[in-house]
Amino acid sequence: MRANYRMQRLYLPDDLSAGAEIETTREQAHYLAHVLRMREGSELLVFNGRHGEWLAEIAGVAKKSARLAVRTLTRPQTPQPDLLYCFAPLKQGRLDYLVQKAVEMGAGILQPVITQHTQVPRIGLERIEANIIEAAEQCGIISIPIVREPLKLERMLEIWEEGRRLVYCDEDAPGNNPLPALSALAGRKLALLVGPEGGFSEAERAMLRALPFVVPVPLGPRILRADTAAVAALALIQASAGDWRA
Ligand code: SAH
Repeated sequence: MRANYRMQRLYLPDDLSAGAEIETTREQAHYLAHVLRMREGSELLVFNGRHGEWLAEIAGVAKKSARLAVRTLTRPQTPQPDLLYCFAPLKQGRLDYLVQKAVEMGAGILQPVITQHTQVPRIGLERIEANIIEAAEQCGIISIPIVREPLKLERMLEIWEEGRRLVYCDEDAPGNNPLPALSALAGRKLALLVGPEGGFSEAERAMLRALPFVVPVPLGPRILRADTAAVAALALIQASAGDWRA
C-alpha cells in the first residue's frame, strides 16, 4: 500500500492506539503550529516504527506542546527492510544528505564503516538518527531504519553475517555495467558498500575482492562522488533485486 502523500506525517516515540492522547514535544508543537500552520481539528498521520501509521487530529496546540488525539489505523506496521547500507562517513553536510537518501531508497540498517581514507573521525549518531526520522516522515515509510555503531572495515568483514552478499561499489571493477552482477542477486539478503571521497586503499580493495560473499560492481565509466554512487547503487539494487521490482 502506498503512503498517503497529501497528509503530513509525524514521527512520535509514544505508543499508538485508537483513542490515545499524546502530548508532543515543544519543537513538534512549534513545527505543527507555525511551520505546518495546523490548528485544532487539523488531521495528520502519526507513526512510531512499532504500531503502524495512524490518523490523528490536533486536539489542542500550546507553546510547550500540542495534544494529538489518535483516531484510526491507516497502515499496519511493516517489517524492517532487510537492506544493509554500509558507508564510509562523509563530512557533515554530505553525510546528512547521504543518510536521508539511504532511507528514501529503502535501506533498513545503516552501518558506518571506518576505512583507511575516511576523513570523518567522529560520527554523530544522534544527528544521523534525526536525519533518519526526517527522511522517514517525508518518504512515507512506517518502520524506522536503524543506525549501528561505526565499525572498522576489517572488523565488519570479520563478523560478516552468513548468507548475506555484499555489493561492493568498486571504481576499479572491469567494465561499466553493474546489471549482470546485480540481477544474479535477486531474492538474496543484500548489503551495499560505498567508499569515502578518497576511495578504498589498494589493500582494502584486495581484501574485499578476496572475500567469497563480496560482489564488486562498476557504476559506469565516470568516477561518482560517494553520495552519488550511493543513490545510484541503491536504485540499481532496488530495481534489479529489491522492492522496486514488486
Ligand atoms: N577513488 C576515487 C574516488 C572514490 S568515489 C578517486 O579517484 O578520487 C567514492 C566511492 O564511490 C568509491 O569508493 C566507490 O565505492 C564509489 N564509486 C565512485 N565511482 C564509481 C564507479 N565508477 N564504479 C564503482 N564505484 C564507484
